[in-house]
Amino acid sequence: LAKERGKNNYQFYSSKLAELTSRKLDLEKWLRKSMEKNELTLNYQPQIDLETNKIIGVEALIRWHHPENGIISPADFIPLAEETGLIVPMGKWILKEACTQNKRWQELGFDPIPIAVNISVRQIQEDNFVESVLQILEEVGLNPRYLELEITESIMQDIERSTIVLNQLKEIGVQISIDDFGTGYSSLSYLKHLPIDSLKIDKSFVDDIINHSNKGEMVKTIIDMGHNLNFNVIAEGIEKEEQVIFLKQYACNVGQGYFYSRPLPVEQLEELLLKNRNEKAFH
Ligand code: C2E
Ligand code: MG
Ligand code: MG
Ligand code: MG
Repeated sequence: LAKERGKNNYQFYSSKLAELTSRKLDLEKWLRKSMEKNELTLNYQPQIDLETNKIIGVEALIRWHHPENGIISPADFIPLAEETGLIVPMGKWILKEACTQNKRWQELGFDPIPIAVNISVRQIQEDNFVESVLQILEEVGLNPRYLELEITESIMQDIERSTIVLNQLKEIGVQISIDDFGTGYSSLSYLKHLPIDSLKIDKSFVDDIINHSNKGEMVKTIIDMGHNLNFNVIAEGIEKEEQVIFLKQYACNVGQGYFYSRPLPVEQLEELLLKNRNEKAFH
């Protein structure tokens, strides 16, 4: 009897596995086509100077509008795009789109601000990554200082190569920030020697401020450490005023989160930029 059941279980699991595998293939197929069919768009989330309440940057975040499945979260398809290598052409498209948009805002007369673009470690590993960034900046005619590349601590895994690539990027003149800081493995001594402009404190630590778990100690520590190393410190995932008050108290420079604004389609972000030019987008 046990044997029977075992066999059935095995069949159950193997068909489940087959289903999952075929869905993954479906997803990959859809993802490939999504680029040709213009189903990918970027949303933009403002970054706010906590002292002046002015928008001093925006982060580009990809959205996939699938005709049948609606909006699919990047958390669901970026890992697959990385696994299949599709992230490389997709990442180029994202960079070009984000730079083009930022250039357009400058031409519309908005105060020039950097646009932050998320870069997968898989892209950095490509031999011609630096050249492709340079080429895009030239094609678009965007001053490199208005592009900020967000990378994660996973670059530390190949510190030798990453150091070379980041230094080359710095030579071009783009800005570099470490995203989701605190969740990965960073050696402080490496961090100190890398040409980094900003640390983005991961949302989980910013959440701790209101959960009162360890009283936001990690946040304080990261802010202090960032400032000691001459980095700009950005808090991500701010949802409550209480967090803003805490962050300002510890002199965090920049904030980003639903408290200020969700990631928005271009037109809505432009309304905020317009307010930002005339007065303040946030009070
Ligand atoms: P991330 O770069 O750390 O982006 C921040 C994520 O937190 C975004 O989710 C954003 O919408 C969300 N967020 C911002 N403020 C708040 C808040 O106050 N509360 C909450 N609950 N969430 C907030 P999103 O857009 O779903 O992106 C998820 C992740 O997918 C990103 O994390 C990034 O790692 C990746 N991703 C997104 N766009 C791209 C892209 O263009 N290229 C690459 N390589 N990865 C991307
Ligand atoms: Mg990011
Ligand atoms: Mg992040
Ligand atoms: Mg994240």
